[in-house]
Amino acid sequence: MAERFLVTSALPYVNGVKHIGNVVGSLLPADVFARFLRLDGREVLFVCGTDEHGAPIEVAALKEGISPRAYSDKYAEIQRDIYVAWQLSFDRFGRTSEKTNHETTQEIFLADRKNGFISEKSLKMPYCLNDKRYLPDRFIEGVCPVCGYDGARGDQCEKCGKVLDPADLQEPFCTICGKRDIEFRDTKHLFLDLDKLSGELKAWILSREDWPDNAKKFALGWIKDGLQARCITRDLEWGVKVPLPGYEAKVFYVWFDAPIGYISFTKEWCAQNGQDWNRWWNDSDSKIVHFLGKDNVAFHAIIWPGMLLASRYAQLPHRVQSYEFLNLEGKKFSTSRKWGINSDEALEWLPVDYWRYYLMSILPEHSDSDFSLTEFQKAVNSDLNDTWGNLVHRCLTFINANYDGVVPSPGALTVEDEAFGKQIASRAEKVRELFYAYKLQEALREALALARDANKYFNDAAPWKLVKEDKARAGTVLYVTANAIKSAALLLAPFIPSSSQKVFEYLGQGQLQGAKWSDASGFTVAGGTKIASKDALAPLFVKMEDGKVAEIRAKLEARSGA
Ligand SMILES: [Zn+2]
Ligand SMILES: [Zn+2]
Repeated sequence: MAERFLVTSALPYVNGVKHIGNVVGSLLPADVFARFLRLDGREVLFVCGTDEHGAPIEVAALKEGISPRAYSDKYAEIQRDIYVAWQLSFDRFGRTSEKTNHETTQEIFLADRKNGFISEKSLKMPYCLNDKRYLPDRFIEGVCPVCGYDGARGDQCEKCGKVLDPADLQEPFCTICGKRDIEFRDTKHLFLDLDKLSGELKAWILSREDWPDNAKKFALGWIKDGLQARCITRDLEWGVKVPLPGYEAKVFYVWFDAPIGYISFTKEWCAQNGQDWNRWWNDSDSKIVHFLGKDNVAFHAIIWPGMLLASRYAQLPHRVQSYEFLNLEGKKFSTSRKWGINSDEALEWLPVDYWRYYLMSILPEHSDSDFSLTEFQKAVNSDLNDTWGNLVHRCLTFINANYDGVVPSPGALTVEDEAFGKQIASRAEKVRELFYAYKLQEALREALALARDANKYFNDAAPWKLVKEDKARAGTVLYVTANAIKSAALLLAPFIPSSSQKVFEYLGQGQLQGAKWSDASGFTVAGGTKIASKDALAPLFVKMEDGKVAEIRAKLEARSGA
């Protein structure tokens, strides 16, 4: 049986709109990878969805004066629309607040418990006498004991980053009523006994041959320091109910139900498509690949596999593919300092492929990378417009002007033609290898290199001169160039799908969706194929003028007060 891939991207939290750093940190590379696999004829399921539970959502909903459900409905839809516009090709984009995820979370918890990995402990938690409820995480604020910041939350100080316990806060107050009528009460909570899984987790991590060394080292270091039982319940209303007597007023901590979404979304897709979800989650032919940011590695390398090991509910991931962070003009993205580019406004400013191309060209695979507006402009103008778009335009315009808009039938191929054909095939194979090695940035460079090769072939052959001396030979050059263009469009398709689709239409090749990666290695545009007419041939890209760059820069700086 051929192996198949279940590709996931980290689940975006439902509060508000994500910035482009979040897009490149997992959503976009996961999409590029899934698109490549489909083209390469693999069976792929690409799932993601919004992560919707937790105290931040309850607090944000209270602020907007709506229910957590209404709040999540609103932002889940906003985010979903944005990801469609980014052309993220999810087979299923679900929501962790839906029924499937509630049921699956309860099932996994009960299995964890049955197998002896759940314990109960009493914790002292802040309780508001006025609102008559417990105040987890950001429902309580006060003065940070470390830096003195007066807006520190029960779980963390945003100013100095210190992780806090509600009892650490000085002068604490309830963020619902603003009062200080708080007392600490003993209340029971449930814990996942990760410590009991140390041996199994260690053996599993050591068996991961192709994991990056730093991820492995990090995870093993954590195990060596001693894994601790982790609290999985919260005194909240908004979340997955705990199916045990005495826990009616509690829900699962959001980190517990969120990754279970990967399984739930698979189940939802399978239910619609007449498949058994175990085909993806309990079958050695299925490779589960999680794409995520570096802040999520520990979670996916230790805690999530721990949950699965404890429950024996599903197999462990094949790979945890993580990325470093993206900065903007040398500075960290920051919501509080209003420094960043949001995923929705980006697409109002420029077409999606411009962003997809540049972001993938600086994909932070090994270290943090920097989004520079000047480099963005260069990438669009030089790579996309000059190298790729112009080649397509020159070749197809020439065919319209000299061959009645029909790809000429080739004469005998010369040594140069044959050599170029071999070069195309070897580029396609190289890009394929890079994809399977998860080297997406290099795969993009290699794909663009084919467009450079084609430019060189076209310029060296100079068909605009040749056509006057030997029209048949010029026709062969155009035939070879048109084929190289189709191959480059295929290699670039996972990265910039809408432009590649346009090229396919221009070349009379129909839908990209039915195309095969292997077509990139041969000449599959037949002589006699009708191409798009002169009027239908719009340039693929438009140069980014200096004025556009200045305009974007001014917007970003004005907003952040820089
Ligand atoms: Zn602090
Ligand atoms: Zn209160």
